[in-house]
Amino acid sequence: MPNDKILVTQSSMPPYEEYIEAIKPLWESHWLTNMGMYHKELEARLKEYLDVPELSLMVNGHMALEMAIQAFDFPEGAEVITTPFTFISTTHAIVRNRLQPVFCDVKLSDGTIDETKIEDLITEKTVAIVPVHVYGNVCNVEEIQRIADKYNLKVIYDAAHAFGVKYKGKGIGSYGDASIFSFHATKVFNTIEGGAVAFSDHRIYEKLYNLKNFGIRGEELVSDVGANAKMNEFCAIMGLCNLKHIDKAILERKEIYDFYRKKIAEIKGLYLLDEKEDATRNYSYFPLVIGKDHEISRDEVFARLRENNIFARKYFYPLSADQACFKNKYRNANIINARKLAQNILILPMYAGLKIEVASRIVNIIKTN
Ligand SMILES: *Cc1c(COP(=O)(O)O)cnc(C)c1O
Repeated sequence: MPNDKILVTQSSMPPYEEYIEAIKPLWESHWLTNMGMYHKELEARLKEYLDVPELSLMVNGHMALEMAIQAFDFPEGAEVITTPFTFISTTHAIVRNRLQPVFCDVKLSDGTIDETKIEDLITEKTVAIVPVHVYGNVCNVEEIQRIADKYNLKVIYDAAHAFGVKYKGKGIGSYGDASIFSFHATKVFNTIEGGAVAFSDHRIYEKLYNLKNFGIRGEELVSDVGANAKMNEFCAIMGLCNLKHIDKAILERKEIYDFYRKKIAEIKGLYLLDEKEDATRNYSYFPLVIGKDHEISRDEVFARLRENNIFARKYFYPLSADQACFKNKYRNANIINARKLAQNILILPMYAGLKIEVASRIVNIIKTN
């Protein structure tokens, strides 16, 4: 089937035969879910790959965040300082836990939470900070931890974009009290749908194990109000297969990333976000800032690409704080930089297997004349 649409991403898949071969044993065991052997194996492999002390697999990244927040038993109505410059899931997970999001501004330089503005937002109701390593850009984890320690707050990172990223030689998921990853089909690494919580305190493993399995603790005991957030064996096997090819996939992304970077640098009015020193990259996204001094606006670039069947995305416009379900509901924060970034950002197509010719065509459309 011919398909010349270029989407912002394309799901990585292992060779067909490899996956088919890998799922065959399920027809013998008939064990399809409920923490089966592949669930256990993927958990162990990912713990190693992500370089984190503990890891719990989940059905998706969103439930990973919901469960991670729930695991800390915050009192209802408590406040959580977070970023509006993120996928809507981050804010949903806070609100669905009956907590109040308090939106903090971000830095224009890299889109992560502005750590210098966190302390001003803290009240006696604040219990946690939920920052996002947006596009795989690492937050100022040291300063965020210093503030959390000073005010006795938990830090739960949304690391959905930061699969495999290391900071100062450590897995990004080893910072804070917990970090969540997404293994959705559109992410750098996928299990079709899936996610995980990484953390250091082993007691959280038990807690999450219960929460993701209806809160069931024993055959006749339900101790927590849990959910069903278990990863099934087909997804775990997809993860085991994809994990074999992940390093190559990331290298292929890097080629496109480097190509875009080089070309973009030659065009007036286009800017890139800062890359943090001491942090590795996974090339999950190619965020481009289209400045006022560019010939045409972000929305015009977006429309022009679409006319050419190229589907760039405006992640994250509108901000989560400005969405219908959250607008004017919470403490009115000054999120001026987040709004500005959301107006000017465009994510270009980038994935393993995207041809350089296509990337070149995209750059030419953006360049205008
Ligand atoms: C993808 C994503 C999620 C949710 O993950 P799913 O696996 O799709 O449920 C959460 N936060 C951010 C920032 C994401 O990009």
